[in-house]
Formats: sequence, C-alpha cells, structure tokens
Amino acid sequence: MSLHIPFDNSYARLPDRLFTRQAPVPVASPGWIALNDRLARDLDLDAQALRSDEGLRVFAGNAVPDGAAPLAQLYAGHQFGQWNPQLGDGRAILLGEILGPDGIRRDIALKGSGRTPYSRMGDGRAWLGPVIREYIMSEAMHALGVPTTRALAAVTTGEEVIRETVLPGAVLTRVAQSHIRVGTFQILTARGDHDGLRALADHTMARHYPDAGSVPEMLAQMVARQADLIARWMSLGFIHGVMNTDNCSVAGETIDYGPCAFMDGYHPGRVFSSIDAHGRYAYGNQPQVALWNIAQFATALVPLMPNQDRAVEDFTAIINRFADLYQSAWLDRFGAKIGLAEPTPEDRALIEALLTAMSAAGTDFTNGFRALAEDAPERSGADADWIARWRARGPDLSVAAAANPVVVPRLHRIEATITAAMAGDLSVFDDMLTVVTAPFEPDPALAKIHVAPPAGHEKVDKTF
Ligand code: AMP
Ligand code: MG
Ligand code: MG
Repeated sequence: MSLHIPFDNSYARLPDRLFTRQAPVPVASPGWIALNDRLARDLDLDAQALRSDEGLRVFAGNAVPDGAAPLAQLYAGHQFGQWNPQLGDGRAILLGEILGPDGIRRDIALKGSGRTPYSRMGDGRAWLGPVIREYIMSEAMHALGVPTTRALAAVTTGEEVIRETVLPGAVLTRVAQSHIRVGTFQILTARGDHDGLRALADHTMARHYPDAGSVPEMLAQMVARQADLIARWMSLGFIHGVMNTDNCSVAGETIDYGPCAFMDGYHPGRVFSSIDAHGRYAYGNQPQVALWNIAQFATALVPLMPNQDRAVEDFTAIINRFADLYQSAWLDRFGAKIGLAEPTPEDRALIEALLTAMSAAGTDFTNGFRALAEDAPERSGADADWIARWRARGPDLSVAAAANPVVVPRLHRIEATITAAMAGDLSVFDDMLTVVTAPFEPDPALAKIHVAPPAGHEKVDKTF
C-alpha cells in the first residue's frame, strides 16, 4: 500500500479480554461523501493520499492499512439508568492510533463497519442519515470550541440498510482522543477483573491524565473536564440526547452523536429523542446526568483503592466538587454570552432572568443570544426592565460576539441535507459544512438559510 498512516496501537497491547481482534467487513461498492482535508493536515496525514481509491477502500473497510491492528472494544453501560452488562463496539472497528504533531494520541475508528461479537441483534451497519448528522455535528462542535470526536471521512457503501425502510448504507471514520468510556471501566469492575481494571486505569492515566499520578486525582480531573464540557454544551443549547455511561468519554470529549440537536426555541425541558420518553436527557437535566455518570465512573474505580471504605468517602468528596465547578463554568460561559468577561455571582440573577424571558417567549436560543452581541436585546425576548439592567451592567459586545455563534447546525437543515444527499446531491452537505465550521463569521450568502429558525412546516421534533 502506498497510503501510509503511522499507527502506534497502544490499546491493542492491553490485556486481550478488553477487546476482540476483528477486521471491518468489506462493502459492495464504496463511494465518497467527504474527506476532512483540514483534519488530515492537522494530524499530519497526507490528505491527497487519503483521497485516493486506496483511501476510499480503507474508509469503507475494504482494505486494512499497513500497521493497523483492527479490533472491537468491549464495554458495558447504564442505558437510561438501567445496567446493561454487555455492550461493546457492535458496529465500530478501531483501526489503530496515531500520534499527532501536537503530541496527542488519537484513535482512528470506523463506525458502521459490519458486525462484531458485540453486535447482539444489530446489523453492524449505519445508514447515510446518522453518518451525515455526526459528521456535521462533530465538526461544528469543534469549530465552536467544544471538546469532541472528529470526522475524518464519510463514505457510502453501495449496500442497503434496513431500518423502518430500506436506506443507503454509509461508514463514518471517527477520530477521538480515545473511545474509552465510563462503561469500559464498568464492565471490568462488574466482572471482578481487577488486573484488567488496573491495566485500563494505567493506560487511561498515561493517555488522558498524564499529570494525575493517582486514581483519585484522575477522578478529580475527570470531574473538572465534565463540568467544563457540560457548561459548554449548555451555553450553546446543545442536547446530547443519549447520555448513557457507554456514551460518556473518560477523555472528556463529546462522543456518539445519535439523537442530538441544538435547540431552536429555548426551553429547559427540551427533549428530542423519541426513545427518551421520560425526558431523562432533556436539556436542563444534562448537568445532573453528567454527575450521575461520574458517580458510576467513581464506583467502577473503587476496587483499585487499597481501602475501599475510605475510597468511597474520598471519591464522594471529589464528586461533590462537580456542582461548584459546573456552576462556575456555567457562569463564565453565560456571563460571556451577555457580554461580561468577568461575571460575578450577582450576575447569575441577570442571566437567569433572561433565560426565563426567553423560555416564556420561546426565543430562538442561538439568535436570541446573538442579538445581544448585535446590540439588539429587544430581539432576545427580554423586556425593557431587563434591557435597562443589562445596559447598566456595561456589557462588552465583543465578548458577547465571541461567545454567541451566528449559526449552529439546526436539526431541520441537517434533515434537508440528508434528504438532498439521498437524492444524490452532496452540494447541500458541502455548503452546510462550510457554514457551520465558521460559526462566528459564516459566509453571509450561504448562511442565510441556516440562521433562520425552522418555519412551522420545517420543524423537526424527533431525531430518532
Ligand atoms: P448507541 O445507542 O449508538 O450508543 O449504541 C448502543 C450499543 O448498540 C453499542 O454497543 C453499539 O455498538 C450498538 N449498536 C448500535 N447500532 C448497532 C447496529 N446497527 N449494529 C450493531 N450494534 C449496534
Ligand atoms: Mg454509543
Ligand atoms: Mg450511537
């Protein structure tokens, strides 16, 4: 092969009960959807070589590049609060890891690459819609400054996937700091595999928490990362949709873009996923759920500690710091959104009053905040009294402009992009990607349809 990816596969050197070696299952007829040149360059990969027919075969799973050690990872998880002891990569294959020029190790993995021993009843495949959604959402999140997995490539398979109807198949190539989840730890603890747990903890610390030096310190840093991550989600009106512990990255990245969405009209109880009947993963619940997930992580780490009663006490104290860390990150983020570079605790009431007004008015989350940066607070849904208080506080509009994007990938535009792609038109996808990866200064002509909230007939209520 002339295509060269400098793999260095540390996960494949862990005890082999943490994964199953497995090659991707080839597909009938690969075709390009997208290659992320910019990401390729950031990773020091040869974009031109990746864009070749050989690259297409690799991203479809029809060829395994030299140096790869393909495997499906084992994990478990709490799904909607229920323990599921056996999950794992049911439709994903980790090809291997590369070290970026920034010194960060990253996984290169295929999603939708065929059945694995963890597929249970699933077909191991993905269809075009979710592949396009994850590509757009993850690249937009990165452009918005949110820690996230990335999309390196997306290809069609030339095969059909059966869901409620027959749909075109696709494979996404995902790049992540790792695919180690809370559920990766949980399964080893549940099995009483303490050697495996120790190996995974050492691996995770070396990789993601190199200055931690101990399990409690890793937990403390994980708590801080999650608090920062969730505050960023909240400040953008992002709803993950399936915050199960198997979708919670220990590295602190947003992972697994399933039934996720950016809110249009603001409401704290907003839910998109139709499988989330009780609103467990509603917008306003996300901080609490993150804390719940962290508690599951801590529980899984207890067997690593010499004195377990003591560990429970210590870990509880560490976890309890989440609330303050989150509140302070939230204040920083939302303070910036109303133009305050250094918000004080007294500013919280001002921010909350705005959110209450936005919720009552059903103000569009993105446009309502952007209006402040454009010195048009009356468009935010706030009343004259709020606007007077806000002005008296002396907001800096450039701070608001840097915190409030002009565009986010709206659900109805993603749906329109998928519809066009299914009809063979990828130009809608290309344009949307161009717009949402420059969210603070998008091309005005291209951005127009992305700035407008959905008209009545365009509204999409469910992602799933
Ligand atoms: P998710 O809801 O995407 O986080 O997936 C939950 C679990 O189901 C994971 O173990 C996935 O690998 C698995 N899974 C999801 N879709 C499929 C599929 N089409 N085929 C096999 N496994 C799947
Ligand atoms: Mg998942
Ligand atoms: Mg998923």
